[in-house]
Amino acid sequence: MKTFCGRANPTTGSMEWLEEGEDYDYHQEIARSRYADMLHDKDRNVKYYQGIRAAVSRVKERGEKAIVLDIGTGTGLLSMMAASAGADFCYAIEVFKPMANAAVKIVEKNGFSDKIKVINKHSTEVTVGPDGDMQCRANILVTELFDTELIGEGALPTYEHAHKYLVQEGCEAVPHRATVYVQLVESRRMWSWKKLFPVHVEAEDGEKILVPPSEMENCPGLPSVCDIQLNQMPSGDFSTLSDVVKMFSVDFSKPVQSASTCYRVQLEPVKSGKAQIVLSWWDIDMDPSGMINCSMAPYWVKPTSALQWRDHWMQCVYFLPREEPVLQGENLYLTACRDEYSVWYNLQKARADEEEQKADVCVESPVCRCRAHLLWNRPRFGELNDQSRTRQYIKSLRKVLKTDSVCLCISDGSLLPVLAHYLGAKQVQYFVLFFRSLHFSLFFKANNIEDKIKIIEARPELLKPSHLEDKKISVLVGEPFFTTSLLPWHNLYFWYARTAVSSHLASNVTVLPQSASLHMMIVEFQDLWRIRSPCGICEGFDVRTMDDMIKDSLNFRESKEAEPHPLWEYPCKSLSEPQEVLTFDFTKTVPQHCLSTEGSVKLLRKGKSHGAVLWMEYHLTADISVSTGLMELSNEKGNCEWNPHCKQAVYFFSSVIESEILSDPTAVEYAMNFDTKTGEIAMDFKL
Ligand code: SAH
Ligand code: ZN
Repeated sequence: MKTFCGRANPTTGSMEWLEEGEDYDYHQEIARSRYADMLHDKDRNVKYYQGIRAAVSRVKERGEKAIVLDIGTGTGLLSMMAASAGADFCYAIEVFKPMANAAVKIVEKNGFSDKIKVINKHSTEVTVGPDGDMQCRANILVTELFDTELIGEGALPTYEHAHKYLVQEGCEAVPHRATVYVQLVESRRMWSWKKLFPVHVEAEDGEKILVPPSEMENCPGLPSVCDIQLNQMPSGDFSTLSDVVKMFSVDFSKPVQSASTCYRVQLEPVKSGKAQIVLSWWDIDMDPSGMINCSMAPYWVKPTSALQWRDHWMQCVYFLPREEPVLQGENLYLTACRDEYSVWYNLQKARADEEEQKADVCVESPVCRCRAHLLWNRPRFGELNDQSRTRQYIKSLRKVLKTDSVCLCISDGSLLPVLAHYLGAKQVQYFVLFFRSLHFSLFFKANNIEDKIKIIEARPELLKPSHLEDKKISVLVGEPFFTTSLLPWHNLYFWYARTAVSSHLASNVTVLPQSASLHMMIVEFQDLWRIRSPCGICEGFDVRTMDDMIKDSLNFRESKEAEPHPLWEYPCKSLSEPQEVLTFDFTKTVPQHCLSTEGSVKLLRKGKSHGAVLWMEYHLTADISVSTGLMELSNEKGNCEWNPHCKQAVYFFSSVIESEILSDPTAVEYAMNFDTKTGEIAMDFKL
């Protein structure tokens, strides 16, 4: 069997479907999976074990046999915990075949084959009866089917079905219940992920203000969850307007309803301000008494000593449909609506006709109507709202634009043409790829510049002189930003597009950015290393089969790949100086041959070298650059500040070396190759 994998081609900027062997899909799935992270989550594992032991004893005390149903067994961990705790039999259900196979091996290796039956099915396909998958219904239900939003991985329908068909009435459930908490906040930083703020431009003829169209202002945005490592959000970046409030709970030991519903709580702001954001997280009680509790509460809610780092469960940021000024002490109602898989929020001011209000609070899930939220993801909104970045672009545009400039902009949904127009380019040609321009006409309309900027809906290689009214381009600009880019260097598509439009460029064309460079640094991660590091023994169970499986999947391709991570969420310490490794000259076309380099980088600081971080810097003009990676480096400690709007590339080393402070520092050798045919960068490190 063959599978097709969608992947953006960095040389064409478009999605391509590549035929891959059957193995590819699951190797990707395993290599990038959260299993390692879950196995490293000590707090989670310990509490599940405690909860499972307590549930098994309660059943035994009643004089019953303990029959366990473990839905989504993964490595088989929770079933092995149950068997060790004295369960009589466990049915371990796992839908993902490679995992089910791994579970069989792990269960056998740990000596539980007679107590645990692994069933490779989705739980809703499992049958009960003498000839069924399960001999009888279970009286203990164990699962770990939660994501950051709690219900996003389908926990509710799975529980609903299990209670109807797979477990006895009055069964024990581990976890016993989950509770979702919320806190109302004002945060310009987080609000800037949903809203486009007006852009101020100092032009020759006075200040111009670029405003977003009303369609964008009133758009409810996206239904998809915004999950982040909230513990990395400095307290100065938001202001809490309410206490932490319990929003809703789900009791997993009773029949669960997955149908859409709403929950409403009363809130009294502790401070006046602008209600914009609902921060949310959950906890699970492993037992009915709530003594064994596993919580995702952020640092300002629980003591730092109780914080367990994890990446599989983080915190959620919900954007209210509109900003609402609130007063300290006034009566507010916050409504959470959910369907089977997602949650969204609304805020109402209490009025006399409260009961009437209750009826209309259950609104539909947010769907973007303005299209901007589909084109720009949340970090991109943040980037466009970054004033210091905009200032760099304005400064450099001002340098290169002349009154008779003919401009062409190549970037997905860029505001540069509008800036260029305000700064006085006579004729800015705005060229948009992939027909993603719809909301841009709205944008130009809102700012009364529709007739000033022309949107050309054509791919670069199909650009014709008639598109440009037979003019030659004197200034070619780009940010560069393309929605299909995954890794930092995929935005080099700008270079390919620039190459494709070469025949339309004037001989003295100015290209902005004029060049780009790839930078690299060796780092020690505070926590991120866990997601790619073997676990070995987990709570006394040997899960090395899983470690080997992850390793095989990572090595499935001859050369390992770098992976994108937003490093502002994942603190690390630099062990080497940042180093420029490759440069890309946009004033010339993409060369036929590959660009390669090799060298060595010295480890100057004491620490564990977990991997290399790579990012791009764009040189807008000779003296103005923007970095999509490192913003600042504190040299004594090696703490790094990363661009908060971009993902950086992380290449995890397969082995970790520990460096000491040495008079003769250890060196890491590297080799990089930018394949101009594919637009990908292959790399290799020797430690
Ligand atoms: N129980 C393991 C793994 C949890 S990850 C542990 O705690 O370490 C969740 C697993 O559940 C995944 O492997 C996923 O493939 C599986 N899964 C999710 N929903 C399922 C369902 N309804 N039926 C069977 N497997 C399911
Ligand atoms: Zn929208």
